[in-house]
Amino acid sequence: MKHFTIVGNWKMHQAPEQAERLVGKLQEKVKPQTHVTTVLCPPFVSLPAVAKKAEKDVFRVGAQNLHPQDEGAFTGEVSGPMLKDLCEYVIIGHSERRRDEGETDKLISQKVAAAIRNGLKPVLCIGEKLDDRQEGHSKRVINDQLHGCLSQITDDDLADVIICYEPVWAISTGDGHGTFAKPGDVKEMLSQIRHIVEELFGEGASSQVKLLYGGSVNKDDCEAYLELEHCDGLLVGGASLKPEEFPAIIESAAKLAK
Ligand code: PEP
Repeated sequence: MKHFTIVGNWKMHQAPEQAERLVGKLQEKVKPQTHVTTVLCPPFVSLPAVAKKAEKDVFRVGAQNLHPQDEGAFTGEVSGPMLKDLCEYVIIGHSERRRDEGETDKLISQKVAAAIRNGLKPVLCIGEKLDDRQEGHSKRVINDQLHGCLSQITDDDLADVIICYEPVWAISTGDGHGTFAKPGDVKEMLSQIRHIVEELFGEGASSQVKLLYGGSVNKDDCEAYLELEHCDGLLVGGASLKPEEFPAIIESAAKLAK
């Protein structure tokens, strides 16, 4: 039997009161699941409200970022020790942060280590840009990202890491104006990721690590990705904010886990 992890990335949406209301709406539709772990990742300021409202048997909670250091003179930043009582997961290396904040694989590797040090499960995002894909460099890019981002952890640490393949060109294209990744291409990339992780950490650790797919997934196409070999779940952005959409994705995962 499979176990899926579905992570909802709320990005810069949902202030505390709205977030509480959204959790309430999702709770009306989502029942406790044995074979699906669902993680809600609101903005920092809404973490306390979501953590208070979310029942652990239905929703887990995650942050969207953390600082690599545990404390210090870093204005505007939030650290692992500040998060660890509020959430269990943390998204790291999202392509929007690589793009807008100039996050490098080296910095991301320090953030992954900070998450592990503080008992948080990193949801590490990797993925190539459109020109990398068009030029045939997708596999080289994810190879470099995995080597760089996982450089500061041990084989044992890997058990708590979730790796999410998110081709940059397939993110936020749910408005119908962009490109969707073909399930066959995603399958190939997930298989490649598992292979690279095996080279880095050995077969045992690699076979256990959870691999997610993310990129404009919706309730209509989620099953095509969940059915793929090596796919252990999804990272969902836009659709995770929709109470008529996200529960249907969780339901599909529950159905396919059986
Ligand atoms: C994301 O934020 O990681 C994501 C995949 O967003 P979207 O589903 O909106 O493309």
